[in-house]
Amino acid sequence: MSTTVLPTYDDAVARYEPVIGLETHVELGTNTKMFCGCPTEFGAEPNTQVCPVCLALPGALPVANRAGIEATIRIGLALNCGIATWCRMARKNYFYPDMPKNYQTSQYDEPLCTDGYVDVELDGETFRIEIERVHLEEDTGKTLHVGGATGRIHGATESLVDYNRAGIPLVEIVTKPVPGLGARAPEVARAYVSELRDIIRSLGVSDVRMEQGSLRCDVNTSLNKSGEEWGTRTEAKNVNSLRSVERAVRSEIIRQSAVLDGGGSILQETRHFQEDTGDTRPGRSKETATDYRYFPEPDLVPIAPDPAWVAELKAALPERPSTKRARLREEWAISELDMQSIANAGAVELIEETIAAGANPAGARKWWMGELARRANETGVELSAVGATPAQVAQLQKLVDDGKLNDKVARQVLEGVVAGEGDPAQVMASRGLEVVSDTGALQAAVDEAIAANPDVAAKIRDGKVAAAGALVGAVMKTTRGQADAKTVRELILARLS
Ligand SMILES: [Zn+2]
Repeated sequence: MSTTVLPTYDDAVARYEPVIGLETHVELGTNTKMFCGCPTEFGAEPNTQVCPVCLALPGALPVANRAGIEATIRIGLALNCGIATWCRMARKNYFYPDMPKNYQTSQYDEPLCTDGYVDVELDGETFRIEIERVHLEEDTGKTLHVGGATGRIHGATESLVDYNRAGIPLVEIVTKPVPGLGARAPEVARAYVSELRDIIRSLGVSDVRMEQGSLRCDVNTSLNKSGEEWGTRTEAKNVNSLRSVERAVRSEIIRQSAVLDGGGSILQETRHFQEDTGDTRPGRSKETATDYRYFPEPDLVPIAPDPAWVAELKAALPERPSTKRARLREEWAISELDMQSIANAGAVELIEETIAAGANPAGARKWWMGELARRANETGVELSAVGATPAQVAQLQKLVDDGKLNDKVARQVLEGVVAGEGDPAQVMASRGLEVVSDTGALQAAVDEAIAANPDVAAKIRDGKVAAAGALVGAVMKTTRGQADAKTVRELILARLS
């Protein structure tokens, strides 16, 4: 066993130039599977969403789902690809226990979409990532290994297969190799996947949840010395978070540079990214395309999208997420950095809808990025699932703007909203949290505060108006924070002038 001393990341990228490439699988959110009418709902009882077609029983024949083809074309168009006028599905032959057909219906030399690009912004710099192809295929089932400690096949006593996922449409998006990124390769890889996720989410064709596997990423990395040919690449499989994409590239750069420094050579292989350690472990040696014996799928007719239909789909594409962010940044008058953290928190649409429901931009941003983001973090849920809707947040902000709630009490109201006690106005009423601005009700508390603090009162009488703050504080205390501070201040000054 050799012990290799790993170089630092800075050392590695000083000596070698990385080339990366990304293959991303997106599970489409169609109601039914790609070649049969089975439902696609996530989390159903195992093997309840299957039929002769997706189980490949003898004589069953597939029929393509138009919605799957349409979604693939829209993804291709959003990634600036050309759309084929005629193409075919292909059989990719290999055995896998969770793949009942013994081949995957996929696309090979005739992909539906080709030659696009995505512009990725990172700290004000733009990196163009070229897209080689976007093709349509079907997902496999899932194998569950039980009886062992790790959930892997080693040590398991039995393996269970669930075919519910078999046949769900998958879109594979493959970049061209991306050279020239230097030390920024890991960050650009992450930013690319993030941008891709935003674009696909904006199309509404997938929920693109990395943690549920509806967006899965394989990351290719190779190293070469400056001026030399590109090196042999490895492929880190199924990297399932944005952070892991960055870590996988980074750790491969370090590992490969150690191998090359030691005079070794890189094996072309798939490697498994390890969440816990942040590095990759060897998997199988990588097959080449010829191993799969691809041939055109004889049971499906060719796909020949009408150019007029494609033009229609193109004209109806939604605003590009990066364009939208730039527009909103201007409208909301915030910095690039603020916009980035809003996007990272998944709050762009939520804030947008809150403003559309009547809140001002600063107010909408404050609640989502403050109190609600904190809560989402603490409870480990997406911001959109935190328990408050944009309409409720807008109503809360309106109550503050109207002086019925102050900021501090508004937090308590929001707490009630999140706990499911109703809309802000209902929570305010049922918890008795409305701000008291009725002068009659406040006058007694003001007089009491003046009587209890004669020295402060004397200062104010002498014209030191700033001292009124102490009395306002005293009144707020006796009214449990529910007094309207501005009214209290006016009452104090009126009494002591
Ligand atoms: Zn089926």
